[in-house]
Amino acid sequence: QPAPGWVAVENFLADVVVRPDSALQRAVTSALEAGMPPIEVAPNAGKLLKLLVQLSGARRVLEIGTLAGFSTIWMAQGLPADGRLVTCEYLPKHARIARANIDNAGLGHKVDIRIGAALDTLHALESEAGPPFDFVFIDADKENNPHYLDWAIRLGRPGTTIVMDNVVWEGAVLDASMDTVNAPGIISALQMLGDDARLDGTVMQTVGSKGWDGFALAIVR
Ligand code: SAM
Repeated sequence: QPAPGWVAVENFLADVVVRPDSALQRAVTSALEAGMPPIEVAPNAGKLLKLLVQLSGARRVLEIGTLAGFSTIWMAQGLPADGRLVTCEYLPKHARIARANIDNAGLGHKVDIRIGAALDTLHALESEAGPPFDFVFIDADKENNPHYLDWAIRLGRPGTTIVMDNVVWEGAVLDASMDTVNAPGIISALQMLGDDARLDGTVMQTVGSKGWDGFALAIVR
């Protein structure tokens, strides 16, 4: 069965426009070799993250969900020389592979990988009382999306950019019974995005190698 046209188009766009470098390609192949799930963002989405980091002028980025570091590398590539990125990953194996990929990309000095449940790491970051994060990318366990959105506001500042991935989830956003584990958190976070006076945002639907999905883009008021 031939791949859907949108996958062929995504590959074309990756080859012609996005052009992930060898370190980014290695991040994807290393994950496959290690038996990790192929759930990193698509190359065109990774490039968008890099551009959004640059457009927002971010110096401090927070990522929730590292996997093998593909999106981490894209965002770190968008940071200035003195920029820093903290990324939260639950599984030590994922963190180890991500560390190697990020170092291989020459970005090791910019990236701090925190191993453990992200909610614990977020509490720890609050205790550390560092400067606010300018940009937050949420891409981990979807049940906690509303909490992650709240933490993004608490650890951010007015003007902080938030990107939250996988918010359409093959349409499960309209029918939580399609995925009772993930859909409720996705739906609650979207309701929060619409209702919470601290946030202003929108959602773009996407289609490609990762199926039918979408991402939320928001700003902290
Ligand atoms: N952002 C990555 C990318 O695009 O390359 C993909 C991240 S993947 C979708 C989600 C990651 O979040 C997995 O590596 C998973 O182990 C991790 N994760 C799941 N639950 C977590 C939690 N509670 N705290 C921290 N990380 C978690």
